[in-house]
Amino acid sequence: MERLQKVIARAGIASRRKAEELIKEGKVKVNGQIVTELGVKVTSNDKVEVDEVPIDKEEPVYFILYKPSGVISSVSDDKGRKVVTDFFPMIPQRIFPIGRLDYDTSGIILLTNDGEFSNLLQHPKYEIDKEYIAKVKGIPTKEQLRKLERGIVLEDGKTAPAQVKMISLDKKKNTAIIRLVIHEGRNRQVKRMLEAIGTPVMKLKRERYAFLDLSGLTAGDARELSPHEVKQLR
Ligand code: URA
Repeated sequence: MERLQKVIARAGIASRRKAEELIKEGKVKVNGQIVTELGVKVTSNDKVEVDEVPIDKEEPVYFILYKPSGVISSVSDDKGRKVVTDFFPMIPQRIFPIGRLDYDTSGIILLTNDGEFSNLLQHPKYEIDKEYIAKVKGIPTKEQLRKLERGIVLEDGKTAPAQVKMISLDKKKNTAIIRLVIHEGRNRQVKRMLEAIGTPVMKLKRERYAFLDLSGLTAGDARELSPHEVKQLR
């Protein structure tokens, strides 16, 4: 038994708050009857409709994928490039990625058909740590790295402070490997942060998402998250 607004939210139709509004507005039917109360609970056998359209009652599923670079974080691509859902040919549910990694970025990405879970994880208040390993052009000074730690002004505002560590450097090639932990998820954020201090990214990999890392996976591998892992993420 689950609350009606939760079931609607999980189907990806609306946020939980918006789902409550839809219910109050009389737009939701359970087994053919309009329901306007918020306390109502339903099971997977109940037929739920929003604006006369039955909501999807797929079982929620959750996966972690080690995305190789050269893959689009989307469910389809109009240029026919490989997309993250191509790695799940046997999954009947309509899964989608939670957030994005750039085409040329590799590493952890989660996929689900649970719209509410996806919204939750991407909500800024959740502050989920994401750890990146970046190969950069140039060798940043301590002061440049401190700027990232303090937060850096980008065109869409100042970033939250990042945890930063230089792992190695190659003086001959004039490159360095930087570990960076951030919890925001702005578009191209890591690349823009490292560019802003004068050391542009040559290669980027996401090695950790909350407590999940890539252990046991090689590029292109995926596995289902355990119910325990899903619970820990919520
Ligand atoms: N930051 C970036 O710049 N790119 C990514 O793919 C992820 C984070």
